[in-house]
Amino acid sequence: MSNLINRPRGTNDVLPGESELWQYIENKAREICSSFNYKEIRTPIFEHTELFQRGVGDTTDIVQKEMYSFTTRGEKSVTLRPEGTASVCRAYVENKLFGLPSQPVKLYYIGPMFRYERPQAGRMRQFVQFGVEVLGSNDPAVDVEIMVLAMEFYRKLGLKNLKLVINSLGDVESRQAYRTALVQHFSPEISNFCEDCQSRLETNPLRILDCKKDHNHPLIKSAPRINQFYSDEARIYFEKVLLYLDELKESYVIDTTLVRGLDYYNHTAFEIMLDGEGFGSITTLCGGGRYNDLVEDLGGPTTPGIGFAMSIERLLLGLQAQNINLPISNKLDCYLIPIGDKAKIASTRILLKLRQAGIRADLDYLNRKMKTQFKEAERNNAKFVAIIGDEEVDKNTVQLKELETSSQEEVRYDDLVLYIKDRIKHL
Ligand code: ATP
Ligand code: MG
Repeated sequence: MSNLINRPRGTNDVLPGESELWQYIENKAREICSSFNYKEIRTPIFEHTELFQRGVGDTTDIVQKEMYSFTTRGEKSVTLRPEGTASVCRAYVENKLFGLPSQPVKLYYIGPMFRYERPQAGRMRQFVQFGVEVLGSNDPAVDVEIMVLAMEFYRKLGLKNLKLVINSLGDVESRQAYRTALVQHFSPEISNFCEDCQSRLETNPLRILDCKKDHNHPLIKSAPRINQFYSDEARIYFEKVLLYLDELKESYVIDTTLVRGLDYYNHTAFEIMLDGEGFGSITTLCGGGRYNDLVEDLGGPTTPGIGFAMSIERLLLGLQAQNINLPISNKLDCYLIPIGDKAKIASTRILLKLRQAGIRADLDYLNRKMKTQFKEAERNNAKFVAIIGDEEVDKNTVQLKELETSSQEEVRYDDLVLYIKDRIKHL
């Protein structure tokens, strides 16, 4: 075993036993998207590096430090996607979805994202994001729709103590005024901040408020707040968002320091956190916000947009922290136990027939003794075993035994599907 090759740091193998949880969660995500009328979009796992430089923003941590970029044989730089929004907007422009008859365009995606991070619980280098984007509507009711979609999704999975934290970053006008005020506030003492923050003062002073190293610095606490700089339009927009949240009795906390990591946000920004019991240092499950300039920045027509993204990894940690067991069933319906060569051959035909009817069925492929085959049936939580000997083959029947009750009955091949379907709930 000396030449063992391990998986790269920050990646995960999802093995049977856990993959059922992933499937369950992904199915729930698809279900809720369907009831909110969101359609799935699948974009490439890699894109031209320029897309993220322009779309996510040159000054963000993601673009500066976290991208997996490489040069292809054609000497072009490509990047494994670190997030979904830039790709979705690129696809929206490239495929002219703004011209679709049905508007706004409501999309969702589920897929792996890649960021070169320091791995820890809830912070992986490859992780799966579920996200939604709504393009083409500037209605505050849409902002609330996606927040509620995310909250309902978490609630459906059984999560409790969810906290919806929300802020408005204002419009361009509000942000410009705020930016100037922040530069004034931090400039005299910027040498006491980390190197990143020193360069952020020039490039993106709002991000100083989001710094993970300096978050306890007194100047961050005393910094001016964005809400003092809203234009009338920005304030009215935010008030409407809150009004719709109130209408749906969705509770929230306003946090004027919430700025979010990506450059493209304006107006509504939000995070969903687990209150109280976090997991490690991380408590944020989901982040989202409005980006009214992104589509245009990517060469498309002026198009308002809003979206959120959450990782399945953090969701699973949240479920674990709250001891929530998802109702996963990995029970087999019927395990076939043939005795002898003739029965073995006949059993493959019966097996196929059961499977074609949607019955979860299996057979021993290790030529084990009957007793061991029974054990295997138990290990698979089989509801029934079908014992088939020479005599049964001649009569076209099986001895069908229910493992829980040990009751046994002779059932004809032709009746087997109906017999089993009658007794199993999921069928
Ligand atoms: P953080 O501040 O935790 O780094 P972020 O601002 O980078 O988050 P976004 O880029 O907005 O997060 O991503 C949205 C969501 O994706 C996060 O709320 C989280 O659920 C998930 N996420 C982000 N990065 C990772 C990661 N490295 N591993 C697992 N999940 C992640
Ligand atoms: Mg991050």
